Amino acid sequence: ARAAVADVPIGPGALADGTPVPLLANLGSVDKLAEAIEKGAEGVGLFRTEFLFLDSEHAPTIAEQQAKYTALLQGFAGKKVVVRALDAGADKPLSFLNDEPEENPALGLRGLRALRAHEVILRDQLTALANAAADTTAELWVMAPMVSTVEETRYFVALARELGIKTAGVMVEVPASALLADRILADADFASIGTNDLTQYTLAADRLLGSVASFQDPWHPAVLRLVGEVGRAGAALGKPVGICGEAAADPMLAVVLVGLGATSLSMSPAALADVRAELARFTRAQAQEFAELALSANSAVEARAAVLSAATPLT
Ligand code: PEP
Ligand code: MG
Repeated sequence: ARAAVADVPIGPGALADGTPVPLLANLGSVDKLAEAIEKGAEGVGLFRTEFLFLDSEHAPTIAEQQAKYTALLQGFAGKKVVVRALDAGADKPLSFLNDEPEENPALGLRGLRALRAHEVILRDQLTALANAAADTTAELWVMAPMVSTVEETRYFVALARELGIKTAGVMVEVPASALLADRILADADFASIGTNDLTQYTLAADRLLGSVASFQDPWHPAVLRLVGEVGRAGAALGKPVGICGEAAADPMLAVVLVGLGATSLSMSPAALADVRAELARFTRAQAQEFAELALSANSAVEARAAVLSAATPLT
């Protein structure tokens, strides 16, 4: 019988065959840190740093940032904490970073592109992070948002290492990065798939626009095929591939993503219990079967229906 969420004890995420799938928290500030720990987050898979920069005329100083990062890392002593470099642009414009209004901001100077245009902001952020990590036992990983080329990957990883970051990776949220994941992962220590943007860019549908909201469905087989590319590249190179978009918070889709090669899942703390319970119901072989079913569907709706009906008799 299907285990109720309450029956699955708070512990490390794992499939029914014991394969570990670390379950991490997405955090936008240190406010939710206690909730994440209480809900059993095994670390942080995405720390969005935009909040530190919003409502500000200037970028915060190294010391100001360092204090915040230290609080975060101390809260997760001994655990992995993945911090994303500032992801400004499009939905999150900053006066000191986004100089020109853009007609298509999702396709504009955002993420790592914007940071490169103002490299001192990126340098200060990486320096503050490296300083904070030196004072704590948390394992700090840092990643760049919206990377679309191998060259950008090399740029970011080299700069992060120069400034004392030990583990540097990239977000895969543009189809180009997923398609070249084997080359990107040759240069990065890890990848984390941002399924929100990856879906937006794969379906060419603005994620902020209500009129095309029905396209924003990470069950779409085209999106899943790209996730599978990254999973395959990660497995071949022995590099971790996390998921940190909303897709990881959909329990059945979380199982499919693991079947496609995701090695950890990060989500808002409220989703951890349901995802933990769903993973515990299936083996790796079953997750891979579900992934195949979803990949062979013609649409997001068909993919979801096929996997749900294959999973139901097993409950
Ligand atoms: C994503 O794009 O999936 C992601 C995790 O980043 P954000 O939602 O902050 O763009
Ligand atoms: Mg994103």
